[in-house]
Parts: sequence; structure tokens; C-alpha cells
Amino acid sequence: MDYMLREWVQLARHEKSIAHVAVMVQAQESGVTPEVVRETMRHHLQCMKESVQNGLDERLRSVTGLTGGQAAMLLSWLKGGRCLCGSLLGKAEAYALATAECNACMGKIVAAPTAGACGILPGAILAMMEERGVTEEQAVDALFVAAAVGQSIATQSSISGAEGGCQAECGAAAAMAAAALTFLEGGKPQQCADAAAFALMNLLGLVCDPVGGLVEVPCVYRNVGSSGVAFTAADMVLSGIRCPIEPDEVILAMKEVGDALPASLRETGEGGCAACESIRARLQMMQGRM
Ligand code: SF4
Repeated sequence: MDYMLREWVQLARHEKSIAHVAVMVQAQESGVTPEVVRETMRHHLQCMKESVQNGLDERLRSVTGLTGGQAAMLLSWLKGGRCLCGSLLGKAEAYALATAECNACMGKIVAAPTAGACGILPGAILAMMEERGVTEEQAVDALFVAAAVGQSIATQSSISGAEGGCQAECGAAAAMAAAALTFLEGGKPQQCADAAAFALMNLLGLVCDPVGGLVEVPCVYRNVGSSGVAFTAADMVLSGIRCPIEPDEVILAMKEVGDALPASLRETGEGGCAACESIRARLQMMQGRM
């Protein structure tokens, strides 16, 4: 069953939360018990933790050598106590980069919602577990809130960079993380939807321009930047700010913008960052060494 954001919010009014509704819907569709559904999500959470651990290895390098080892640098900067974003967002950013670098280096990740945008949601959830004492069961609930948002975006618009640009990947992931963060901080279902809309609104128009067609540059760095967007979106709604546009309309706006993007900015590796001479030359040089 596919739901719009306003329908998830509506259903959650009669149940306990969007998380509860999402578990029940998934159980019904899969023909399994809610506990089996939750156990599967626990497994995803464990995979997310392992991806972060693998991605934090300072010796990690992608096949091209363009990425890898940078998440360790970011975490080390955070541990030095001078991270401008503070310990919570700083850790979320480092973990987002670790997951994205793990993916760029062919490691196992949870596509959340895609491989290119795999770091934003785990970074946010795992940082909340370590910095705010979020329990495993709360984290699992938050992942179901994120999943509901992801489903709404996928069915009303797209979660493919080739179709809708990076707004559909990193934008969708930031929306999912923003809703999850809002939920973890005690936000109501409508606030979760508003946070998702704010995150998407702030990444609207983001193009898909992977250098060399590889999910490395700018992808891994966009996972870091989009983490910041997720946290600021959650902070806005938790402070009481209401999204002035219906959240589902923001999703539809994202689809319109995606449809209007030229092909060069939809994963063809021809425009945007992918067209920049310095990185093209660097990639060519590195591939020449392989
Ligand atoms: S730039 Fe394209 S390939 Fe890279 S994360 Fe964004 S949508 Fe995915």
C-alpha cells in the first residue's frame, strides 16, 4: 500500500505513531508478524553500524583512489574538539561520510534510500544513539518513520538520480533523516512530515553530476552536507515552525523540478561537477595508474 505523507499522518492519529503504522502495514503486506518486521529492521540497523565501522578505516581507498580515508579525518577533527558543528551533528557527518565511503569502496551498506545517498540516515540515527542515548528500539522505530517518508517520496516522485537529480537521492535521504530525528526528539507525526518537507525544500534542484559516472565525487560529500540539512530541518519544526507548504506538494514540486532538469544533470556524468576540468584530469591520471 502506498501512502502520501498526509495519509501517514492521518493514520498515525488513530494509532500510536507513524512508526507503529509502518510496521503494521509492512507486516500485513509481507504476511509476517510485526515482530519479524522489526527484527528485519534491527538487522538493517546492525548493517548500518558495520558500514560506519568499515568506512572509518583510515587505510580505506576506492578503486580510483578518489575517495576513502576521509571519514577518519573528519572524526579525528571532531575528537580534537574544534568541530564547528558540535558533537552531535559532527558525528552524524563523520558517520555519513564513513558510510558513503564504504559504499564507494564496494563495501556493504543499506541503501537508504539509495546507495549514493546511503550515509545520511545512518549517520543521523547512530549519532543520536551515541550522543543522545537513543535505544536500539527507538532507533528501529525512527527507521520506520524514515521508511514511510521514503515510500511517499518514491511513489509520488522519484528516488533516482537518473530520473530526478540528486534532490531525489540526497534530498530524499535528508527528508527521511529529518523525519526520523524529529520523531526521536518527541515530534508529532505532522512535525515529522513538516521536517521531511523542509529538508527536501532546502535541497530542491540539486543536480546529479557524478564525476566519471562513479558514485564518489560529489556524492560522498553531499552525504555530509545533506546531514546538516536534515538536522536544521528537524530543529526548525521542533522549535514550533510549521512548514508553510503542504509536505506532499513539496514532493510533487521535486518531481516537477526533476522532470525539468536537462539530461546532462541527471547521472550522465556530463554536467555540473562531472564537467569540471580539474577533477576530470585527476580521475584520468589515477585511472592511468591502474
Ligand atoms: S550525485 Fe547522483 S549518483 Fe551521486 S549521490 Fe547524488 S544522485 Fe546519487
